[in-house]
Amino acid sequence: MTEILKGSIVATSIKEDMKMRINNLKDRNIVPTLGIIRLGDNPSDVSYEKSIIKACEKMDMQAKVFEKDTQIATEDLMELMEELNKNPRISGILLFRPLPNHIDEEKIRNSISPDKDVDCMHPLNLEKIFEGNLGGFSPCTPKAAMEMLLFNDVELEGKDVVVVNRSMVVGKPLVMMLLEKNATVTICHSRTKELKEKTKAADIVVTALGRPKFFTMDYFNPNSIIIDVGVGVTEEGKLSGDVDYEDVSDRVKMITPVPGGVGSVTTTILLNQVVIAAEK
Ligand code: NAP
Repeated sequence: MTEILKGSIVATSIKEDMKMRINNLKDRNIVPTLGIIRLGDNPSDVSYEKSIIKACEKMDMQAKVFEKDTQIATEDLMELMEELNKNPRISGILLFRPLPNHIDEEKIRNSISPDKDVDCMHPLNLEKIFEGNLGGFSPCTPKAAMEMLLFNDVELEGKDVVVVNRSMVVGKPLVMMLLEKNATVTICHSRTKELKEKTKAADIVVTALGRPKFFTMDYFNPNSIIIDVGVGVTEEGKLSGDVDYEDVSDRVKMITPVPGGVGSVTTTILLNQVVIAAEK
C-alpha cells in the first residue's frame, strides 16, 4: 500500500500553532499583513494571489495587493519596495517572479528589507540558508517539501535523496536543507545522464520539473518516497504533478499528490513567515 502524504494535514498542524501567535499579536493591535506586488495579470500569479488572500482571511491576517504594469521601470519598482519597507502596517512583502526581462532583478532583490523578505529573495537571507543557518526566512517551496518529509517522520539521516531541479527557488535551497538533516544528496537537471538509474536507486526523490506525468514507475522502486513539487497541466487540461500518479500508485512507499500535496503547504509556510515578520 502506498502512503499518500496529504498537504492539508501538515498545513493544519502549522496553522494550529500560528493561530495562537496571531492572537498574541492581536492583543498588541498588530495584524500580520502581507504586501503582494504583482506585475501584470499572469493567470498563475492571479490564481496564487487569490489563494493567498483567501488563506489570509481564514487566519485573521491581511493581504494588500500592489498591482503594477509589466512595463514598470526598475527604479519605480525599487521605490515601491522602499515604500513597503517603511510602511509599519506591512509585515512581509512578496513579489511575484519571474520578473519581466527589462527589470534588473539583482537590484530588486537587494531592495527588499531582509526583515520583510518572507519569500527569501534578498541575498543576505539566501546566504544564511547556504551557511546552514535555517533560523531565518526560507524559500517557501523547499521549506514546504521539507515539512512534508519531517511531519511524516521520514528518516533523512544517511538516506540517499535525489532532487531533480537546480533552481534557486526550489532545488538549490532544498539541497542545503536536506544536508542539514544529514541526507546524502544528488542534484539532477536537464543535462543529467542516466536519470532513471539515479532516481531508481534513491531512497527519496524530489521532483520539480513542471512536466506533467514525466516520471513513470520506471524511475522508482517499491520503497521509493516521492515528493512531487512540480505543477503542470496535462493535454486533457488536468492539473498534474511531474509523476504519473496512476502509474506509481500502490507501487511505491510514499507519495505526495498533486493537487493536495506540497502546494497546499507552501501557502501556509508563506503565511507563517508573515507572522514571524510581524512578531519581529
Ligand atoms: P525551473 O526553474 O524551470 O526548473 C525546472 C528544473 O527542472 C530545472 O532545474 C531543469 O533543469 C529541470 N528539468 C527540466 N527538464 C528536465 C528533464 N527532462 N530531466 C531532468 N531535469 C529537467 O522551475 P522552478 O521555478 O524551479 O519550478 C519547478 C516546478 O515546481 C514547476 O512545475 C513549478 O510550477 C513548481 N512549483 C511548485 C510550487 C509548489 O508550491 N508546489 C512552488 C513553486 C514552483 P535545467 O536547470 O538544466 O534547465
